[in-house]
Amino acid sequence: MTKYSVRFSCDECSQVHLMGHDIFLENGPASKATIGDFFADTEIDAQLVKIMRTKTLCPGTGNLTSQQDLQKIFLTPLDD
Ligand SMILES: [Zn+2]
Repeated sequence: MTKYSVRFSCDECSQVHLMGHDIFLENGPASKATIGDFFADTEIDAQLVKIMRTKTLCPGTGNLTSQQDLQKIFLTPLDD
């Protein structure tokens, strides 16, 4: 299992933020990838679906926001 950080491009402030949860994937992407690209031909991992439904605080504006666009959500493998 590899640990991944989940980041998203924020519609509120156009910055990239952490979604606040790391996830573990078997056979995840070897390098940074969007959810849209990586899960193009397979079902999106249930952990990610759950995270996408959760609103995240934008540190730039202080508003709660969420991102449903699969091309604006990124998985980055963490080495530890
Ligand atoms: Zn933001």
